[in-house]
Amino acid sequence: MNTSHATFEELETRLVELTPLAFPEHSIERHQNTEAVVSLAEDFLMSMPNQLSYFPQREVHEASFRFSEEGEAIEPLLSSLKEEILPTGINAAGHGHLGYIPGGGLYEAALGDYLADVTNRYAGIFFASPGAVRMENALIRWVGKLVGYEGNFGGNLSTGGSIANLIGIGAAKFKFGIKGHDLHKHVLYLTEHTHHCIPKALRITGLEECVIRKIPLDTQYRMQADVLEKQVQADFKSGLKPFLIIASAGTTDIGAVDPLDAIADIAEKYKLWLHVDGAYGGFFLLTEQGKALMKGIHRADSVILDPHKSMFLPYGLGMVLVKDAENLKRANTFTANYMQDTQGFDLEDSPTDMSPELTKHWRGLRMWLPLKYHGIAKFRATLEEKHLLACYAWERLKSKGFEMGPYPELSVLVFRYPKATEEATDQFNRKVLKQIHEDGRYFISSTMVDGKFHLRMAILSFRTHKKHVDDFLEIMEEKIRDTDSRLP
Ligand SMILES: *Cc1c(COP(=O)(O)O)cnc(C)c1O
Repeated sequence: MNTSHATFEELETRLVELTPLAFPEHSIERHQNTEAVVSLAEDFLMSMPNQLSYFPQREVHEASFRFSEEGEAIEPLLSSLKEEILPTGINAAGHGHLGYIPGGGLYEAALGDYLADVTNRYAGIFFASPGAVRMENALIRWVGKLVGYEGNFGGNLSTGGSIANLIGIGAAKFKFGIKGHDLHKHVLYLTEHTHHCIPKALRITGLEECVIRKIPLDTQYRMQADVLEKQVQADFKSGLKPFLIIASAGTTDIGAVDPLDAIADIAEKYKLWLHVDGAYGGFFLLTEQGKALMKGIHRADSVILDPHKSMFLPYGLGMVLVKDAENLKRANTFTANYMQDTQGFDLEDSPTDMSPELTKHWRGLRMWLPLKYHGIAKFRATLEEKHLLACYAWERLKSKGFEMGPYPELSVLVFRYPKATEEATDQFNRKVLKQIHEDGRYFISSTMVDGKFHLRMAILSFRTHKKHVDDFLEIMEEKIRDTDSRLP
């Protein structure tokens, strides 16, 4: 006899005694909690015009992160969120976030997340939620058509661009059947300005051990297609196996778009996989100017885009597209005995067969709701506005004597205020940046271009308009005067 078994009576008694998690269907408490949360959100949104963009504060009271046996009321929890946790670092929702790649975070996406969480549909497998899966696949089809894909392409909604790149690169590796023992013979091509999540994806997939060629950039910081072709030829000639080109549709540093059409010619000619990282720039395909710039993108074997950047959604949504869905599916499909009931119902692909995930957030709802609600035209106009604002800022900075990087192809610009020597320029611009951060009304970042310190603006938040750019430029001029007057 197994002595660890309790009797029926003991089990029943214990079950009556317990107080597990429960939420009454008709609950005043639930309404009150919801109202408290909505009220915090409203306060946050209504005070947005006066909020700082950067808070140097890093400390948070210990009590906020101590967990105890007993529950607490929601008000003090929301207070600690509002007063301690939120006012630290960058305010990425606001109009003043002009650093890194800011999208802002459309409110309707939060409503989508709310409903996805309350209804908790299982969006990993078609059988479990045909509605949720069809919604996600419809979004993938819409973006695929935007890229110019036709026929049997596939994709996946990921948490962001890094994971989308990982999935795309994983599919390429699988397609070429690359095994550990011949990694060192395979060659892949990228540039100095390839986003650092790509080397990370290469490490995770094992492709870090391949021969990795950094193709030089032209004067506008784009991959030089003619040099790429010569390198591919030389590599074949020396007995290596070129297989993958990774191009950028909008680099994070400069916003430059590699010559995709010319690169696609090379990929086709030598039968290489072309992967395009459009995490930042991809959705500029909605604009005429962006479409012209990214000509040839439809020829790529895989493309990634980040709706949480250039579709202005809150953080948590990327997308990978693969031209031949089979390549994505074969790389990711596994089955398990306990899942046998889910098979045979598939009118459409299941997300779990297109990515490393199984159980996942129904993240399509956070894109579907804003896209349907606002309509495509608003997104197009907003992207066009961001590009024009970047051009406007570029012209104004140039007229004020700044040394300018390339004219913006998308919505990123780099620049620096020149001083007598290289060293003085470097120090001066670092001081200006520090002052802008201390001021906190706007946040910009910096980067190194050709080994030189540059200030960098990325205008992509849907909340940033011309008056904000004007306002920021005035503040920056003020900081430049201040910094100048403080110099010995
Ligand atoms: C932001 C970015 C990434 C990484 O995407 P995450 O969503 O931050 O994971 C990759 N490539 C480019 C060009 C990016 O701008």
